[in-house]
Amino acid sequence: MSPADPRPEELRRRLLARGFDEARFASIPGPLPDPLPAWLAAGHHAEMHWMERTAAKRLDPGLLLPGARSIVMLGVNYWADALRAPPAGAPRWARYALHEDYHDTLRPALAAAAQDLGELFGATPDDTRYYVDTGPVLERSWAVRAGLGFTGKNAMLISRRHGNWLFLAALLTRVPLPADPPAAPPGDQPAIGTWCGKCTRCLDQCPTAAFTAPGVLDARRCVSYQTIENKGVIPRDLRPGIGNRVYGCDTCLEVCPWNRFAQAGRAVLLAARHDLAGLTLPDLLDLTPETFAATFRRTAVKRLKLTGLLRNACVVAGNSGDRSLLPRLLRLARTHTSPLVRAHAVWAVRQLEATALPSLPPADETDPAVQAEYTA
Ligand code: SF4
Ligand code: SF4
Repeated sequence: MSPADPRPEELRRRLLARGFDEARFASIPGPLPDPLPAWLAAGHHAEMHWMERTAAKRLDPGLLLPGARSIVMLGVNYWADALRAPPAGAPRWARYALHEDYHDTLRPALAAAAQDLGELFGATPDDTRYYVDTGPVLERSWAVRAGLGFTGKNAMLISRRHGNWLFLAALLTRVPLPADPPAAPPGDQPAIGTWCGKCTRCLDQCPTAAFTAPGVLDARRCVSYQTIENKGVIPRDLRPGIGNRVYGCDTCLEVCPWNRFAQAGRAVLLAARHDLAGLTLPDLLDLTPETFAATFRRTAVKRLKLTGLLRNACVVAGNSGDRSLLPRLLRLARTHTSPLVRAHAVWAVRQLEATALPSLPPADETDPAVQAEYTA
């Protein structure tokens, strides 16, 4: 493609007009050098075995789309002024969860972007694949290559324009687009913390000491993993560090000084659910299948399911020091149908008032996960 060809810039113009806040191109030279194999070998992916199964595709986009020449990396700024100060004392949510599920809301714009490639370059639908976070694409590494930002010591993409608050999406294509310069100097491996300087705030303030080195996150210790991806029992030693985080954790993002440049996003492609931040702990502990479905419809939280959210709410209740929650916790410990919920409710009761335990029915409890909470 000649440098004078106006079509790549026309593509970028259309993408920005569609509501993406960043649209940059990287060439696909072949498999991507990436720390992923070492991270997997160390077991840092916890029970996310799908990451192992898809590792080859993640490293080599040519296995996802044979003949892929370029990747269009797209960013959507999800910072909103309404997210600046969460209600005092309320359970905390990862800020991304306070929107309708971005996997769903970004997809139509990506489909339109694929059409743009067709109109401008004659690409057929088979020449393009697009992904929002859930596909086997190393979005962060490609975003660094395309110049959206650098990898911080918090292992996140940090944009010098948007801080830590970008949703990423990727479009693989057989169209050879001119590569934009990377934000960080290219090397064999994407550099970690290129513009962190001496700062170590994210590493120091992680509540569960989940970083084994700058940029190396052990998901097994991460609150985000434990409250979202882990579908089973949350390890007891990590529960105090969860604090009041009921879904995910933003600590290593929000302490980052690069956020000072973040401006409220246009949110053209997003639908706010900032009202979720106002839910109280009693609201959460009282959720029923019906109220859970109605409240979290079209949000990412619905994938956690009611039992997962109740499990997390019990942990937050156990950390709260609020003994007025005991009746709700005792009800869950005695009557909830899920042993997962009962087990975490028993733990929360123990945290708030161990003397309430005799009023629980351990003799009738046959599930080992729940029994373990009595004998801890
Ligand atoms: S998301 Fe929270 S728990 Fe996980 S690494 Fe960051 S600060 Fe630590
Ligand atoms: S908090 Fe500091 S060390 Fe961590 S990513 Fe941001 S600048 Fe880098």
